[in-house]
Amino acid sequence: MTDGDRRDGALVLVATPIGNLGDLSPRAVATMAAAALVCAEDSRRVAKLFAHAGIAKVPVVVTNEHTELSRIPTVLATLADGGDVVLVSDAGTPGVSDPGHRLVSAVLDAGYAVSIVPGPVAAVSALVISGLPSARFVVEGFLPRSGRVRARRLDELAAERRTTVLYEAPHRIVRTLEDLTAVCGPDRPVTIVRELTKRFEEVVRSTLGSIDVGEPRGEYVVVLGGAIDDAAPPDDETIREAVRFQLDAGAGTNDAASTVAKALGIPKRQAYSIALGTLRSDHD
Ligand code: SAM
Repeated sequence: MTDGDRRDGALVLVATPIGNLGDLSPRAVATMAAAALVCAEDSRRVAKLFAHAGIAKVPVVVTNEHTELSRIPTVLATLADGGDVVLVSDAGTPGVSDPGHRLVSAVLDAGYAVSIVPGPVAAVSALVISGLPSARFVVEGFLPRSGRVRARRLDELAAERRTTVLYEAPHRIVRTLEDLTAVCGPDRPVTIVRELTKRFEEVVRSTLGSIDVGEPRGEYVVVLGGAIDDAAPPDDETIREAVRFQLDAGAGTNDAASTVAKALGIPKRQAYSIALGTLRSDHD
């Protein structure tokens, strides 16, 4: 190979299982096996993963929240040499409540490519089975443990309209649910997802005031329903449904529009125009 053929390496973030080794993808294994260097949060955990996948002889450097910055020169040198560098965290997707962002940023700044072998993320997995709206959501990660920063973050969460996903440790889950209840009120919907993909996987869907997590054990994701904005104007679909109800009950267009306008607190002409549209589409 001549110098002209040589390509720079790329940093590849590889997602790993969040509990069930069956979720390790073939591409994750192939990418780790072909890497010149694997940056891993914990040497023992990655050794287990390698043993499971039959990977041997790939150099590993421990890259955790304390060492991430100091690994940057080694990573850049490996990339400059044409070797690919893999970043894995203890579980799930690196960079999601795990080290990764500072390394990604440094590699991009140095002009190298960053790519991903996607896979499990506890937050997204919990969200999509929670039963709570998933079209727009926020991944909050871990809340600050105490003090004013925690109180401020809790206040922000109380006002958040999108579904919020939180990570929590078993010994703090009860306190976090109590704090959320204090700021969001007891009626806010919440789903607690425990031990995803593992033997004791459990999903509890309830409200903050009624949820019972039992004896806290294992890993938890808290999925919190968004705040409902009572001041938001009703959308056309809501108005149409209300108008249809009145028309079906025998009201004329004018009366239906008056009743709906009063009930929903909207201008009568808006309800009237939707009522006319509803009648027109009935006759089409
Ligand atoms: N990078 C990971 C990801 O992609 O989901 C998250 C890492 S964060 C340090 C670890 C937290 O994720 C745990 O404390 C727990 O809240 C959540 N978590 C990880 N695995 C889980 C699982 N199998 N079931 C429920 N929660 C899990």
